[in-house]
Amino acid sequence: MVATIGVLALQGGYEAHARVLHRLGAVVLEVRVPAHLQGLDGLIIPGGESTTMTIGVERERLAQPVRALARAGLPMFGSCAGMIMLDREHLGVMDIAVERNAFGRQINSFEADLELGPDRELDGLAEGPVRAVFIRAPWIVEHGPEVEVLARVDGHPVAARQGHVLAVAFHSELADDDRLHRLFLGWARAYARAGGASEAGGSGGLARSRASQP
Ligand code: GLN
Repeated sequence: MVATIGVLALQGGYEAHARVLHRLGAVVLEVRVPAHLQGLDGLIIPGGESTTMTIGVERERLAQPVRALARAGLPMFGSCAGMIMLDREHLGVMDIAVERNAFGRQINSFEADLELGPDRELDGLAEGPVRAVFIRAPWIVEHGPEVEVLARVDGHPVAARQGHVLAVAFHSELADDDRLHRLFLGWARAYARAGGASEAGGSGGLARSRASQP
């Protein structure tokens, strides 16, 4: 089954996510307005600049429909600024508080090999750590009981899961490692099989005609 994944394309690194998704055989739709949310099996919020993205989300009135889809079980995946956007103060999809640019100026950008877990599904990544590219990255300062921390750097949570929502402070789409995207596509396919997309409005001609080319 082919999954249809929306990538929020208001600003930031949405094309890098789209490239990984295309490579893995997904249909990719760029999401800019609420109508573009119809018929999705998953939604990715890319890295970029969360202040600019927030302005776009408010202008297009995207927060409420995105929250409604999260409540309905649509799998979501945010990376870097995408993690910020998923937090309590922005889209309100995850029960997390996030500090922007938390690693400070000294270590603006760095790469690390991260072991993710413990989590039954994510332990499927056990063949080795994930290569994580951090660029002016945030970390999680506080989270609710439903949030499972999957990885830390210097004791600070940088990857977390709340049910069908995954957030990472790094850019998994930039490293040569697509295991997180594969995992996410598995969730999206399960959502599609359960009839999620049709309940959320069906994958109509409009959505299909917006499919971007690899
Ligand atoms: N520092 C950015 C912000 O606060 C996030 C950086 C990124 O997405 N690479 O929005």
